[in-house]
Amino acid sequence: MQDKTEIADKNENLIPGATGDWEVVIGLEVHAQVISNAKLFSGASTEFGGAPNSHVSLVDAAMPGMLPVINAECVAQAVRTGLGLQAEINHRSVFDRKNYFYPDLPQGYQISQYKHPIVGEGEVEIEVDGDTKTIGIERLHLEQDAGKSIHDRHPDYSYVDLNRSGVALMEIVSRPDLRSAKEAQSYVGKLRTILRYLGTCDGDMDKGSMRADVNVSVRKPGTELGTRCEIKNVNSIRFIGQAVDSEARRQIDIIEDGGSINQETRLFDPKTGKTRSMRSKEEAHDYRYFPDPDLLPLEFDQAYVDELAKGLPELPDEKKHRFMDEYGLSAYDAGVLVAERASADYFEEVIHGVKNAKRDGKSAANWVINELFGRLNKEGQDIRQSPVLARQIAGIVNLIGAGEISGKIAKDLFEIVWTEGGDPAEIVDSRGMKQVTDTGAIEKTVDEVIAANPEKVEAVKAKPAMIGWFVGQVMKASGGKANPQAVNEILKKKLGVE
Ligand code: ADP
Ligand code: MG
Repeated sequence: MQDKTEIADKNENLIPGATGDWEVVIGLEVHAQVISNAKLFSGASTEFGGAPNSHVSLVDAAMPGMLPVINAECVAQAVRTGLGLQAEINHRSVFDRKNYFYPDLPQGYQISQYKHPIVGEGEVEIEVDGDTKTIGIERLHLEQDAGKSIHDRHPDYSYVDLNRSGVALMEIVSRPDLRSAKEAQSYVGKLRTILRYLGTCDGDMDKGSMRADVNVSVRKPGTELGTRCEIKNVNSIRFIGQAVDSEARRQIDIIEDGGSINQETRLFDPKTGKTRSMRSKEEAHDYRYFPDPDLLPLEFDQAYVDELAKGLPELPDEKKHRFMDEYGLSAYDAGVLVAERASADYFEEVIHGVKNAKRDGKSAANWVINELFGRLNKEGQDIRQSPVLARQIAGIVNLIGAGEISGKIAKDLFEIVWTEGGDPAEIVDSRGMKQVTDTGAIEKTVDEVIAANPEKVEAVKAKPAMIGWFVGQVMKASGGKANPQAVNEILKKKLGVE
């Protein structure tokens, strides 16, 4: 039987405190802007960065008598997203009014979904330090974004820009299943990957296309959930990590000092890396939710859902497992490649040009991840602008696989292809870069190296591991073109070592 301390020791997520270890519990509400040309209930454009108030219809400005009309594309996007989250799709959902006053909310209410969301329970698989974990999704609902108040243009006035007013958002609510900053970050990263694959949200956190409300509580392992605080609108994956850690620390310190946690809404300040209070639960709004009388319940049938399911692309987890099965990649390499659809597509194009994909799949993944990504990173370039094309990488991989060039020469070849372009096989031919497998030629070089280093020959006989030195010398003498295996064998024979 395992005792308690042993189990506790195994949980690397626990945070030490004066009164023993603490567990942090996190649930996220992610707001994701729907990719759609028009807004959720109007035909106005959703384009980012237009002149203030240039993308505003009479509906978005809440002119009296204007009626909302549901945008079918936004509904389809929410259903696609639900399918991508392995979630239950609700054939009937209801739009409610969430009432509050704010200058950037001209209607005086936000149209959202409350009791009957379009998508119910689902799940997302995350990976942290090589371990896989399933995070529950509670729901996904559609709602409108608000406008933007601008306070820093004029000392005496505030302005309102309604370009975002009415833009469709999906709010994706997780269960409180996350147990560390890393898990929360991994979850948001994975969600972003899935939405991008689906083409339902661009996931661009810099532009505010994705932001998260981070709910954090702490408890002693095995006890009931603690009181949570909600940190509003955190807009980068790095900040999510910092917000979780600093908020957990704050709560642990309060409880260990004999205090208790007040349920409240807090803000994350990137400058201090800490959270601060915004409003307590007592001051919280009563939104007086009620079904919007201007909109009928949203209803569709299973045939509609099936049709959308047919159009879905292969999702990152499926792709990852296929890469592992078909090309023998490690879970790690496959995970790196599928994190962005563009890099997965690039790799797949490389594989199509590789003659023996089963044998050389791993090598192809190495070349894409280590050499190409490494180089693109260094140059600050995106895979979509890569000067080296997939078929050129495939060419290099084929030459290595066929034993025509060594790994070292392949790096030189990559450099040439990167800077000058060209067909790898032709470059190898025209510049005499082919690996020498002709044993006669290698033997000649081996003899020369042995003759020039009699004292090392003695040393190698005493200590066979020294043979590596000879291999290095012969490789150098051949300009890196000798086949290292052949060199090794010939040396062993000539030096009489095993
Ligand atoms: P509300 O509707 O008041 O926002 P919910 O129950 O819908 O509250 O929860 C909102 C989010 O808070 C969800 O993501 C949920 O997982 C998370 N959450 C709920 N309870 C806790 C808790 N004790 N600690 C951390 N997160 C929590
Ligand atoms: Mg909430």
